[in-house]
Amino acid sequence: MVKKSRFGQVLLSRGIIDDLTLEKSLMIQHEENSTNPRMLGEILVSDFKVDHHAIFGMLADMYAFRNIEINVPELTKNQIKHTREILSKFPDDFKKELLYKKIVPYQLQTGRRNTLIVLAANPTEKIIERIPVYSDFKKYEIVYCKFKTLTDLIEVVSPQKNEFLDLLEESIQQIEEVQEGEDKAKIDEYALDDEINKSLLVNLFEGSLIEAVRKRASDIHIIPHERSNVDFYFRIDGKLNLWHRQERTSPEAIAAVVKDRSMGVDRFERDTAQDGFAQRVIDNYLIRFRVSIIPIISSEYERRFESIVIRIIDDRNVITDLRKLGFQQQAEADFSKAISKSRGIVLLTGPTGSGKSTTLMAALHHILDPTLNILTCEDPVEYLIKGARQIKIGHRLPFDEAIRTILRHDPDVVMVGEIRDRVTADVAVKLANTGHLTLSTLHTNDAPSAISRLFKIGIEPFLLAYAINIIVAQRLVRKLCTNCRIPISKDKYTAALDMGLTMDELESGKICEANIDGCKKCTRGYKGRITICEALYFTKEIRKAIVESGDEIDEQLIRKIGEDQGMLSMQESGLDRIRNGLTTVSEAAYASSED
Ligand SMILES: [Zn+2]
Repeated sequence: MVKKSRFGQVLLSRGIIDDLTLEKSLMIQHEENSTNPRMLGEILVSDFKVDHHAIFGMLADMYAFRNIEINVPELTKNQIKHTREILSKFPDDFKKELLYKKIVPYQLQTGRRNTLIVLAANPTEKIIERIPVYSDFKKYEIVYCKFKTLTDLIEVVSPQKNEFLDLLEESIQQIEEVQEGEDKAKIDEYALDDEINKSLLVNLFEGSLIEAVRKRASDIHIIPHERSNVDFYFRIDGKLNLWHRQERTSPEAIAAVVKDRSMGVDRFERDTAQDGFAQRVIDNYLIRFRVSIIPIISSEYERRFESIVIRIIDDRNVITDLRKLGFQQQAEADFSKAISKSRGIVLLTGPTGSGKSTTLMAALHHILDPTLNILTCEDPVEYLIKGARQIKIGHRLPFDEAIRTILRHDPDVVMVGEIRDRVTADVAVKLANTGHLTLSTLHTNDAPSAISRLFKIGIEPFLLAYAINIIVAQRLVRKLCTNCRIPISKDKYTAALDMGLTMDELESGKICEANIDGCKKCTRGYKGRITICEALYFTKEIRKAIVESGDEIDEQLIRKIGEDQGMLSMQESGLDRIRNGLTTVSEAAYASSED
C-alpha cells in the first residue's frame, strides 16, 4: 500500500498535477525505498517534468518561507562582489554541493543579528542545516527563490569553469615558449612538440564537448580549413556558429584525436565513412554523442581530410509534455486526440531539422503505459525511452527486415522512424488497419502533399483515407529574444504586407524584428525556437474527398476542407507567431516557403 501524501493532495487540489501522475510518482517513491528517499517534489520534477516553480513555490508557501525574485542582469557590481565574498568563506567541496543544489548564501544582513540570507530553490533541503558547521555564519534565514533565477545567479557569482579550455590556454602558451626558445633548446624538440600538441588537441576536443552541451548546441562540426587550420562550429537554434578556429594544427591530427577518444571507429581508416559514439558526464549529467566521420576532398592530393560532425544527445532536451511543444490551440487539441486513439497512423512531415523527432518523442511519452507494448524502429536510435522496446538496427538486422518483424512482435503502438518506400508504407497501413497506433514521419512540405506522396508510392486512396488519423506538417522558426527585440522597421513593411499583415498591425508596435547586435541573453537577437505547423485532422469530409479521388489526389480541395474546419495553414501559423511578437517576418517566410 502506497502512503498518502498531504503535499501531493495540495498539488492535486490546485490542479498542478493530476491523479495519475500523483499515483505514479508515489509508486516510484515507494519502490525506491532507499535509505535516502527522494522527495515527492523531486520525483515530479525529474521524472514527470512538472515545472519546478509550480511545485517548490507551493511548498515554500505551505511552510511560510519568505520568497524573493531577483533581476540577475541588473545586479549591482557591489552585490555580486558581496555574494562572491560570502561564497569564498566556505570550503570548496561544500560550496560546490550548495551550488549544485541551487542554494546560494546571498547576503549578510549586518547589525545586531548578522543573519545570512540563504536563497534556495528547495527551502527544505537538508544540507542548509550544515551551513553553521562549515562556516562562521551562525544565523541564517532561508528564502525561496526560483530555480531558473538561481541558475542565472550562480552563472554570475560562480561561473562554471571548463578545465579543458584552461589547459588548452596553458598548452598554447607552452608552444609559444617552445617556439621562442627553439634555437637554444634543440634537445628533444620534436618529442616535446608532439607531446604538447597531443594534450592540446585532447583538451580542445574535450573542451568543445563541454562548451557545446552548455551552449545547448545540437551538433559540433569540425571542418578542415586550409592546410593547417581547423574550424569548430556549433549548431545552435538551427544555425552554425563558428566557436573556435584552431590554427597551426593539421586537420589529420585533430581527426586522429577525435577517433582516439570515440568508440566504434578505426583510427587508421581514412577512406570510408565511419559512425562512432562517445559519452561523457558533463555538469553531473550523462551526455551521449554520435560521431560521424566522412572523407572529403582536399586541395592537395596526398592529404586525406575528413569532416567530422558530432550529434549531441542530451536527454534533458527531450520534451515529454505535449503542451510544451507549443502547438497552436486547435493543432494541439487535434494532435492530442489523434494520438489518443488505439489505432491509425499519425504522420509528421517536414524537412530535416523541423522538429519532427521532438514531436514524436513527446507523443510517445504521452502514450507510454506499462499495459501497452510500444515498439520503435528508428535508424539510428537517438533518445532512449524508458518503457518502450527500441529495436536495434544493424547489418544483421536491416531497417526493412526490422519493419517486417514488427508485425510478428505483438505490438500495440509502433513508431517507425520514417516511411521511406512502398514496404514501410504498406506495413504502416497494415498496422493501422489491424488495430495499432502507428507514428511515423515523411519528407514532404505540407500536409495535403503527404497524401499525394503515399498515393504515388502505390497505396490505394480508400486505404489512405481510413488508415490515417492526422498529418502534421511542421517547421521550427527562431524565437525573438524578449529581452532585446525591437519594433519592425519601415524597410521591412513591404515584405510584411506581402505576407498578409496589415498596416495597422505593423504600426501597433507589437510586431517585432531581431536586434542583430543581440544582448547577453541571446545570439543575434534570437533565443530558442518555436514551432509553426499545419495539422490536418482526418474528419469524415477529408476521408470522403480522398476516397473520391480519381487518378490524382486533389490537394487544393483537401486543403480547402481542412481550412474550413479551422486548420491553420503553415503560413497562417507563422503569421500568428509574428502577430504575437514571437518571431520575425523573414523567419516565418523562410520556413513556410516551398522546399
Ligand atoms: Zn537578446
